[in-house]
Amino acid sequence: MNNIDIVLLRQKLEEFVAAEPQTSGTKEFWESPIMASALVDDRFAILPEIAMDEHLLPTDLLATARSVVVFFIPFQKWLVKENREGDRPCQNWGRAYVQTNDLIERASRALSGLLEKEGYRSELTPATHNFDEEKLMARWSHKHLGHLVGLGRFGTHCMLITPKGCCGRFGSLVTEAKLGDHPLMSTDEACLLKAGKKCGKCVERCPVGALKADAFDRRKCWDRLNENYKTLDYFSDLPGTTDVCGKCAAMMPCSFANPVKI
Ligand code: SF4
Ligand code: SF4
Repeated sequence: MNNIDIVLLRQKLEEFVAAEPQTSGTKEFWESPIMASALVDDRFAILPEIAMDEHLLPTDLLATARSVVVFFIPFQKWLVKENREGDRPCQNWGRAYVQTNDLIERASRALSGLLEKEGYRSELTPATHNFDEEKLMARWSHKHLGHLVGLGRFGTHCMLITPKGCCGRFGSLVTEAKLGDHPLMSTDEACLLKAGKKCGKCVERCPVGALKADAFDRRKCWDRLNENYKTLDYFSDLPGTTDVCGKCAAMMPCSFANPVKI
């Protein structure tokens, strides 16, 4: 019998995120996080097909893995609003990106520690930059895993839309604990356009035309993210991994909720 369950893990993550501004002396960038889990089974075999050929399976990370846990830490509305202005990301968007990646790493370790105390091993991957530089795809994609565990659905902008929207960052881990299936999505689609309704606002908003209703030019987007880092003076004290833009996610119908459900 498990002494640990999804409720406890969710609570630990919520506490961790709520304490972060005080722990790290940062701005209040975050809303309360959400988390979903799924048992390790055949559904993950589709990862090489829907993500990339070399995508890892949960058992590649940990041979004895029984569950996959994926979480989402949403950004606060003021930050998303601030990033809507202009064609370049605002300074706080870059800072929040860097700080959130760090937060995800520490929070994942805390969750892993909790599981370890109960006798369950777990494995983590970095929040970002675990990807193939040629294909621009992650070998462990938090977003694709989030889709498979029912934390969100892909939007036309290729971001995952969760019950708390798409503005924020994802983390994940695999563990030996049998946590069960705890999805959070109640609709097959969470993007208005994909659900056959009128939208496409993200397509209109992209400053470099990387998005179409049915296509995503990954290279165009990636080049823009790199250009932002290289050209924006106010990112000069941030690490070279600060690849941000977020224009297609800021103040959209899917920014803070699942608009198909609404
Ligand atoms: S802005 Fe509209 S079309 Fe784009 S992902 Fe969101 S809901 Fe879908
Ligand atoms: S992140 Fe920026 S460049 Fe990439 S698709 Fe969205 S709006 Fe376009």
